[in-house]
Amino acid sequence: MLGSLHIAMTNGNHRPNAASPSTPKEKTQTRAFTLIELLVVIATIAILAAILLPAHSRPKNRGEGALCLNNTKELLLAWLIYASDNNGKLVGNPGAVPITNTNRSWCVAGQQPGGVGYQQGYETNTVLFMHGLLGPYVRTRPYVRAPKIFRCPADKFIFPGARGPFARSYAMNNWMNGYVLGTTEAILYTREAQMRSPSNLFVFIHEDPNTIDDGTIAIDLSRSTTNSWNNSNTAAALHNGSTNIGFADGRAELHRWQSTMKSTGKIKTVITVNTMVRPNIDANWLKKRTSEHR
Ligand SMILES: [Zn+2]
Repeated sequence: MLGSLHIAMTNGNHRPNAASPSTPKEKTQTRAFTLIELLVVIATIAILAAILLPAHSRPKNRGEGALCLNNTKELLLAWLIYASDNNGKLVGNPGAVPITNTNRSWCVAGQQPGGVGYQQGYETNTVLFMHGLLGPYVRTRPYVRAPKIFRCPADKFIFPGARGPFARSYAMNNWMNGYVLGTTEAILYTREAQMRSPSNLFVFIHEDPNTIDDGTIAIDLSRSTTNSWNNSNTAAALHNGSTNIGFADGRAELHRWQSTMKSTGKIKTVITVNTMVRPNIDANWLKKRTSEHR
């Protein structure tokens, strides 16, 4: 039955000719696809779709990456202008700060349900970080789409218990006027002038929505943890295995990691920097750009 499947129409020019009566064989002559031909067509369409669809989705990824890069630059600019307005003193970055203490931190309150400094509703409350110390520096500049610049457009994940995607995707290096972690040999920067090489020190990074809670990404610089990603906080790699990182000279760039993986946190679909591989080239790369030796 299948072999005789006829799909196409009869030939439009085929008319019975009265002068030469057609034989029964000619009467049944039609232009038709066999099942095999049909399958070949379907397979060809499937192959073309497989080639073309990913290419079609790439510009969207690139668009999100570009917006995220722009967000990072805007945050850096606010960070630099704050220091300039305060005689070179860096904005406070102490971690989770209660909203009653908005004059201590660039970013107040924790946004992860169950995490440090969290209260219900903080995860989607954009007012919270607009009331932090950098709020006025993004709110008053023309063309800056605050508070949207605190959130990466690729960060659409919803943490268990949260009301929606987090309002903030970026975190600040804990060594930038935050706190010491793992060693006293590295510099805890409180002023711009302490940095020997600002272009080699990161300030903002897109943190994994599984670990982002307060305003800092905690980077442990103890010697014993070289070659491993020993930090409790990880970087999200949502732009084709890359992350936007902002540096202390005001430069932001999309950094491609050597190795990424699916997160081991509560949201398994998040792509993060690979924390399992040893030696961990990516961890060493970031740690080299976290602080300088005293
Ligand atoms: Zn991003």
